[in-house]
Amino acid sequence: MTRAAKKTSEKPGKPEKPAKKAATGKKAAPAKKAAPARTSKTSRTSAGTSAGKSAASGSAAVKKAVPPKKVAVAPEKATAAVGKASSVRTVAPKSRKNESHTALVRRARRIDRELAEVYPYAHPELDFENPFQLLVATVLSAQTTDLRVNQTTPALFAKYPTPEDLAAADPEEVEGILRPTGFFRAKTRSVMGLSRALAEEFGGEVPGRLEDLVKLPGVGRKTAFVVLGNAFGRPGITVDTHFQRLVRRWQWTEETEPDKIEAAVGALFPKSEWTMLSHHVIFHGRRICHARKPACGACPIAPLCPAYGEGETDPEKAKKLLKYEKGGFPGQRLKPPQSYLDAGGRPAPPLAAG
Ligand code: SF4
Repeated sequence: MTRAAKKTSEKPGKPEKPAKKAATGKKAAPAKKAAPARTSKTSRTSAGTSAGKSAASGSAAVKKAVPPKKVAVAPEKATAAVGKASSVRTVAPKSRKNESHTALVRRARRIDRELAEVYPYAHPELDFENPFQLLVATVLSAQTTDLRVNQTTPALFAKYPTPEDLAAADPEEVEGILRPTGFFRAKTRSVMGLSRALAEEFGGEVPGRLEDLVKLPGVGRKTAFVVLGNAFGRPGITVDTHFQRLVRRWQWTEETEPDKIEAAVGALFPKSEWTMLSHHVIFHGRRICHARKPACGACPIAPLCPAYGEGETDPEKAKKLLKYEKGGFPGQRLKPPQSYLDAGGRPAPPLAAG
């Protein structure tokens, strides 16, 4: 039932006025039969010829039938779309144009709460054992997948476990190890440069302050916040490509520059939630709300999303678009651990709950 319909049905109905004729005791004349629906061809013909006659005939049935505009509707129940496609009730997506700041804050936090239920295991998908490894891995993750980085870093850290080791390495050897991550020459310069800076200026330790981190070669705010949030427990928003795409789809902000997006989204959430918010959004971007084919029909936050319908809305087709890879290659689908799946192979309980 749509909201409008629900609203109507909840109000006690007004008693209808009795027809005048009925009040006099006379039998009301039966209503004229509506003209049968015409085919589009007939309608076109009659629309042209009957324009002048319509006033005389008083019939509205000759008007050309206008097909209703197709509107994508989101499932009313957030988790229903995947489980029981046929029984999903729908509501028209709301326009967010005039949404107040308070309403936006509420909707944004609700989206995050829903995502937290869908991805209770959200975490940085780069493998690391200490801040130095996370810093290097994050720099290497530019323009490639976390999976590729995770396949590359064990050899790097086995050979160069400390900033001093990496700073003193033969660049050609480092390039050879980093080649699979792409842009390997530039990345070699960055990780060797930041290792040198750590060794010379910070006693071989990764600093825990934003202003120090962003001075390191190849380290911007995004990388710095990944390190601060996940190695130091200091809240930070990671504005990567997924984060940028999703917060714009959700109309959390219209900003396009990472720094401005970070500030706008940061204002919607308590600081303590920033790190996990980043994980939730990035997990959702990687698994369901893809750049080219978002799986709207299998999306647990569809009722809260102004962009519902941008991707596949058929639940069965949408399910096939779900990706479970840990930052894998485009099109590659790796199975998540079994604990993340329900019996039907769908992601963790919340998606299957409906
Ligand atoms: S998958 Fe579709 S409904 Fe879900 S967040 Fe992305 S655009 Fe919105």
